[in-house]
Amino acid sequence: MNSYDVAVIGSGPGGYVAAIRCAQLGMKTAIIEKYATLGGTCLNVGCIPSKALLDSSHHYDDAVKHFEEHGIEIPGEIKVNLEKMIARKQTVVDQTTGGIDFLMKKNKIDVYEGLGSFKDATHIVITGKETTEIEAKHIIIATGSKPSNLPFISLDKERIITSTEALKLKEIPKHMIVIGGGVIGLELGQVYRRLGSEVTIVEYMDRIIPTMDAGLSKELNKVFKKAKFKIQTSHKVKSVERKGDEVIVKADNKKGEEVEFKGDYCLVSVGRRPYTDGLNAEAAGVKLDDRGRVEVNNHLQTSASNIYAIGDVVKGAMLAHKASEEGVMVAELLAGQKPHIDYNLIPGVVYTGPEVAAVGKTEEELKEAGIEYKAGQFPMRALGRSRASMDIDGFVKVLADKNTDEILGVHMIGARAADMIAEAVVAMEYRASAEDIAIMSHAHPTFTEAIKEAALAATEDRPLHI
Ligand code: FAD
Ligand code: NAD
Repeated sequence: MNSYDVAVIGSGPGGYVAAIRCAQLGMKTAIIEKYATLGGTCLNVGCIPSKALLDSSHHYDDAVKHFEEHGIEIPGEIKVNLEKMIARKQTVVDQTTGGIDFLMKKNKIDVYEGLGSFKDATHIVITGKETTEIEAKHIIIATGSKPSNLPFISLDKERIITSTEALKLKEIPKHMIVIGGGVIGLELGQVYRRLGSEVTIVEYMDRIIPTMDAGLSKELNKVFKKAKFKIQTSHKVKSVERKGDEVIVKADNKKGEEVEFKGDYCLVSVGRRPYTDGLNAEAAGVKLDDRGRVEVNNHLQTSASNIYAIGDVVKGAMLAHKASEEGVMVAELLAGQKPHIDYNLIPGVVYTGPEVAAVGKTEEELKEAGIEYKAGQFPMRALGRSRASMDIDGFVKVLADKNTDEILGVHMIGARAADMIAEAVVAMEYRASAEDIAIMSHAHPTFTEAIKEAALAATEDRPLHI
């Protein structure tokens, strides 16, 4: 039987990064994956393929709606070849997952294909083409998550689908009904809206992206409405039924009246659930919490002291970079180091057009905590850079402590916000004040000038360009 210092179950951005860091630190490491390729949800059916389709659909949208304004004329009709678009996405996925194979080899990590199941706290049985057993001193559970569903919905994966199927449709829906106006619903809803589908978003809460700062939600709602999305907030879905090629969604609106939506596809994007099926966690003494997540302490250690858990399968935001940070943290803990993660500084991004990005506290959270703060906001449309590229929607908002001026949260919506949020993370990591950002030179013309201006507005209420 092969014996390891560390065995990692699951090869998503949590698991494969944990394995690399363990190997870098000199531990003999194995990784176990049940899916055909490495990389987990993120690389195979999550972050990477969704961004590939968002980019392709963005190009199409630009070509149809904006090229002419730029003085670019394309004779003839501009058409979508969905099959080719999906194939390109798959090429991107294959290249990316292939990169993980390379990294495993480079770091001399043994890869086992098959479902990993605990026999006890130090032994894992792997069931793949054949059955193998390995032994490990330490084990990291990184088994991720799966789409959740509502109890009354029967997902047929043809017309009533999850994100996984939405990434490989064979036709452009005529009318896609999206249940859940969170990250997946908006990102994938936008892909198909751009390609010509009518898209109705049915959201239970009173606003889309309800966990983000309300200002971001309001602005994105405005932009989506302009793009002719139908957005139905405060709607409680109660049934989803398929009749031939038609899908009928019934919901109760705010007044308690029953409303009906008819489409040809229904994307169910109401969140994801931790995945521990087949893991046989109890055989190792690993406890789950009441929401099915692996219970961990602040060191990500489970109820079995040699077993750790990271990523989507534990509490916290279900984000790839959060999973990876946790993977690094556990590896370094095992090596006797003292790593730390500041969960307040894990940025959140929605890759819609315009992009939405945030780090730190929202205004709602600061109010609830009774923290006195100042807010400075700057609209993208006031930037020369935005006008040059016609990306005028959105704003940057900087929230700073009223007394100390320390930045407490940065919320932005606009072109390239996903990349720009890194400046806010760095600033907050070093506990910068709004004034610190306000007095730093930001290259002109760039979208980042909006961060400087919002910081100027927050610190002394003196933005320069409005
Ligand atoms: P996963 O990536 O889920 O990996 C877990 C792996 O474990 C899987 O490969 C699974 O097959 C394997 N596994 C499970 N059980 C076993 C077992 N018993 N034995 C062997 N293998 C097992 N996050 C972002 O930060 N940015 C984004 O842009 C983004 N976009 C997304 C888009 C979509 C459509 C979706 C669905 C998710 C997106 N996410 C995004 C979320 C992101 O994918 C997850 O947060 C991330 O993948 C979690 O990583 P993980 O390593 O915890 O688990
Ligand atoms: P989510 O939690 O972002 O959104 C789910 C939405 O569904 C919420 O707005 C919720 O209020 C709504 N909802 C729940 N029950 C409902 C009901 N009965 N009727 C109508 N609406 C209902 O979840 P998601 O969009 O499915 O994404 C899952 C996870 O994947 C998220 O945690 C997210 O972090 C991650 N993800 C991240 C990215 C990214 O980082 N860009 C992209 C995609 C997914």
